[in-house]
Amino acid sequence: MYKNKWIEKNPVTRPGIKLEAIRKIVMHYTANPEMTAHEHYEWLNQERKRYASAHFFVDRNETLCVVPTDEVAYHANDRARFVNGELYRGTKALLPDANYLSLSIEMCVDRNIEIASEIEMRALELAVFLCAKHQLEATDIIRHFDISGKFCPAPWVNNPERFEQFRSKAVQKLKQIRQEKN
Ligand SMILES: [Zn+2]
Repeated sequence: MYKNKWIEKNPVTRPGIKLEAIRKIVMHYTANPEMTAHEHYEWLNQERKRYASAHFFVDRNETLCVVPTDEVAYHANDRARFVNGELYRGTKALLPDANYLSLSIEMCVDRNIEIASEIEMRALELAVFLCAKHQLEATDIIRHFDISGKFCPAPWVNNPERFEQFRSKAVQKLKQIRQEKN
């Protein structure tokens, strides 16, 4: 399903703080044209200024887990939008800080900053696996956009139907997994 290739502990990309709970699986896109999962691993492993990271990176060839799934990654508690002077938070289950309560999956993009269908499928398998593992429902798979209003993953914000299709496939797959277990 995925390979563990953890970055070194450091304050900005892997603080080593334990997650308080796993309530949602948060989907992102990297927005870095043609940058692979491994290249993101290398970048986050040497980044020491910018507070940004994620648990998983999915590209055409592999899925890397770069931050352990019981630790905090900095992926979703950004200040993308304010409403009436308040920080916008569209997913109440993740208050006060989504980074302490969720896992994150970054989908790598091609040169047009599009998400290839193979990558979407690989991300789907992973998201469903994580839902099954952590007793979540397919409706617990959400977009970064749903938390902070950040335009991420942009192809799924521009075309919400694409995200709905992703989620209905997740519903089916999760049902299958749970039936097989019984
Ligand atoms: Zn994002």
